[in-house]
Amino acid sequence: MVVLDNLITGSAANLEGLPVDFRRHDVSRPVKVEGEVGAVLHLASPASPVDFPAYPIQIVKVGTLGTHNMLGLALAKGARFLLASTSEVYGDPLVHPQPEVYWGNVNPIGPRGCYDEAKRCAEAFTMAYHRAHGLDTRIVRIFNTYGPRMRLDDGRVLPNFMTQALRGEPMTVYGDGGQTRSLTYVDDLVRGILAVLDFDDSLPFNLGSQDEVTMLELAELVRRLTGSSSEIELRPLPVDDPRQRRPDTARAEQLLGWRPQVTLADGLGRTLEYFRRAL
Ligand code: UDP
Repeated sequence: MVVLDNLITGSAANLEGLPVDFRRHDVSRPVKVEGEVGAVLHLASPASPVDFPAYPIQIVKVGTLGTHNMLGLALAKGARFLLASTSEVYGDPLVHPQPEVYWGNVNPIGPRGCYDEAKRCAEAFTMAYHRAHGLDTRIVRIFNTYGPRMRLDDGRVLPNFMTQALRGEPMTVYGDGGQTRSLTYVDDLVRGILAVLDFDDSLPFNLGSQDEVTMLELAELVRRLTGSSSEIELRPLPVDDPRQRRPDTARAEQLLGWRPQVTLADGLGRTLEYFRRAL
């Protein structure tokens, strides 16, 4: 297996011990891979909201030019193509929970626009290659996913709460903490991605859990789990922060028989072990 990553937010250490041919490369630039290729999985992009102001141009490029390059590679090789899309295509959703047929409520020019619109364009690119070239394509819309090997300074909610609780620092809850997310453990997500790859259907599949919690509830959960005495500190809500998010996963359940198996308590426990070791 060939892995391409320019490592602007990733870490080569996460590949240690895996039988992969790693090449440091930015897929927003032309991609050459020799030999046969059975499947191209386009997973590349910074995805934490703290990355959006840091790498806005790279994010737009990898979702657009990067997607074009990876689609071109799949077409040239006669390979199947899978796009990692996101629940961000729904923006700050006005429909709850979000089914795949919902078109979303996205601000194209706000701070999240670089990511949301690049992923929406990536979906459009993928469907265009499917329709124009008959390319065998898949799209997964990934909801908030967590687990071991996240960056300690990733900036997303789980790494923040875990590192803050373990260090006894204040836990930073944005806004009033009433906004919700549905957290999916990484192993469940990977199983879902592989199931979509194996199933002949080019329309998007939501992949995410039904474990919808408010950020205040999540902070309390992490605090209890870690036995921390950290205080909870309210901070300003970031611009365009979605108010609620939970996937309608009927499609994945009915067609793939996929549903998450790892409970939030179990997944948080496994993730905590990692953060304890890493800190
Ligand atoms: N959040 C928070 N404290 C933090 C980091 C994030 O309360 O230290 C909130 C954030 O405002 C959002 C939710 O947690 O409502 C999830 O944020 P994250 O950055 O993990 O990803 P998002 O789902 O917004 O892309």
